[in-house]
Amino acid sequence: MARVYNFSAGPSMLPEEVLKKAAEEMLDYQGSGQSVMEMSHRSKVFDGIIKDTEKLFREIMNIPDNYKVLFLQGGASTQFAAIPLNFMNGSGKADYIITGQWAKKAFAEASRYGDARAVASSADKTFTYIPKTKKEDFDTEADYVYICMNNTIYGTVYHELPDTGDIPLIADISSCFLSEPLDVTKFAMVYGGAQKNVAPAGVTICIIREDMLGKARDITPTMLNYSIQADNNSLYNTPPCWNIYITKLVLEWIKGLGGLEAMKARNEKKAKILYDFLDSSKMFRGTVIPEDRSLMNVPFVTDSDGLNAKFIKEATDNGFVNLKGHRTVGGMRASIYNAMPIEGVEKLVAFMTKFEQENS
Ligand SMILES: *Cc1c(COP(=O)(O)O)cnc(C)c1O
Repeated sequence: MARVYNFSAGPSMLPEEVLKKAAEEMLDYQGSGQSVMEMSHRSKVFDGIIKDTEKLFREIMNIPDNYKVLFLQGGASTQFAAIPLNFMNGSGKADYIITGQWAKKAFAEASRYGDARAVASSADKTFTYIPKTKKEDFDTEADYVYICMNNTIYGTVYHELPDTGDIPLIADISSCFLSEPLDVTKFAMVYGGAQKNVAPAGVTICIIREDMLGKARDITPTMLNYSIQADNNSLYNTPPCWNIYITKLVLEWIKGLGGLEAMKARNEKKAKILYDFLDSSKMFRGTVIPEDRSLMNVPFVTDSDGLNAKFIKEATDNGFVNLKGHRTVGGMRASIYNAMPIEGVEKLVAFMTKFEQENS
C-alpha cells in the first residue's frame, strides 16, 4: 500500500523510520518480552524510556538545568487552565496577545480565573499577521505574558519575541515544537501538545523554569499542579507511556539528522519551495504577510470557492490529503511539519502547477 502525503495540521505525519522502529519493537521491546503499551510505568524498563526521553529533550533543545521537563496529559488545551491556576497567583493579572483561535481560547480560560488582559490582537485582519508590541504595552504587575508562538490555523509565527522586560513569558509551541532551535532561557515556560511535531496525541510536554513552581492556587486540581507533577517526575499517576516512547524515537530521529539546526534548514527549504510557488502563481496566493509566515503551516487560497473545492478534491485523489483550510478560514492549508519529506512538498507544488495550467 502506498502512503499518502498527509498535510494535516494535527495529528500529522510521523517519520516513517519511527513508525518502522515502533513496529519492530511492538511485540518485544528490547528483550522485555512485551510492548511498551503493556509494561508498568513503575518498571525499570519504562524508567529507562522516560529518563532517556527527558535527556534527549534537554540535549536537543539545549534546556538548562533550572528547567523541569514534564510529560503530562490533557493536551495543550488543558494547559490553558493549568497556566493561570499555577501562575496567576501574585497580582492575579496576566497579559495575553491574541494571534488566533488558540491564543483566544487560552485567554478565555485565564479570564475565568483572574484578570486576564488582551494586550494586542490581529483579529482585525483575520489573524494574518503578528501584532507589534512594545515593552510599555505590558502591565509590569502581570504574573506573566502569554503568546502562541506558531499559529497553526492562520500560519503566522513570531520571528522575534515580544520584549516583556522582567515579566515571565509563556509560549504555546505546539505547532513549532522541535522545528528549529529555540532559546528556552527567554521563557518562563514553553509547552505543547505532541500531535503536531513530536508524537501521537496524548502527551503534552511542559518545560518550566523552576522559580515559577510552588505558586499554584489552593483550588488547583492535583493533576494540573505543575509542582506536584515535577516532584513526581511526571509519574504522579500513569503517564502516557506509549506516547513518551514514540517521543523518544522521534527525538532520536531528529538527533540522527543533525539536531534542530538541521531541522531548521530542512524546514526552511520545504517552506521556501511552497512560498516561492505561491508568490509566483496567478491562481494561488498565501494569506499571511510575508514577514510573519510560518515554516510549519501554510494557508493559501484561490479567488474562487469552487476552485478551492475542486483543488482539494483532486489533490486528495492524487494522494495529497488533508489540505482543506480550517473551518474558520476556508481555502487550503498545507501543514509541513518535521516529518513531511521534501519530496512531499515538491510533488505538491508540481501538482499545483499542473492544476493551475489545466484550470486557467
Ligand atoms: C493543536 C493546537 C492546540 C490544541 O492542542 P490539543 O492538544 O488538542 O489541546 C493548542 N495550541 C496550538 C498552537 C495548537 O496547534
